[in-house]
Amino acid sequence: MRIDLPLINPSNPSCAGCPALCCHNLTLPTSAPTTEDGLRDLKWRLHFDTVKICILGKQWFMIVSGRCRFLDDHNMCAIYEQRPKQCREYNPPYCERYIDPGALVFHTPADLEAYLEQFGGLMPEPPGESAP
Ligand code: SF4
Ligand code: SF4
Repeated sequence: MRIDLPLINPSNPSCAGCPALCCHNLTLPTSAPTTEDGLRDLKWRLHFDTVKICILGKQWFMIVSGRCRFLDDHNMCAIYEQRPKQCREYNPPYCERYIDPGALVFHTPADLEAYLEQFGGLMPEPPGESAP
């Protein structure tokens, strides 16, 4: 899935010179909190100080701090030829190096609640995805 992200420098995107930012965090797409259950789940994840929730473009992500155990001391992948599919498919410019630093990042349950106040407490359902 290609996500419409706010890019800093979309011209000539490349991994050259990058300190392997994407191997220093686990970034996973997650659902926006459109229900009370969904909100409770995201707030619970934010109890952990290794977790952040962010919005990039229209997509929500959970970011878990933690360096990949296969990243070597020179920030190179020690299993590059055998690296997982997820790593092969993660490429610039749709990555940490090129995203807008102004993207919304929530560190605590209170951060998330404060953001959602403007929507009445929950994110609106995307068009066409509300329950019948
Ligand atoms: S995919 Fe992005 S974050 Fe990862 S090494 Fe390449 S430029 Fe850096
Ligand atoms: S397996 Fe390699 S490319 Fe994938 S996160 Fe680990 S170090 Fe990075």
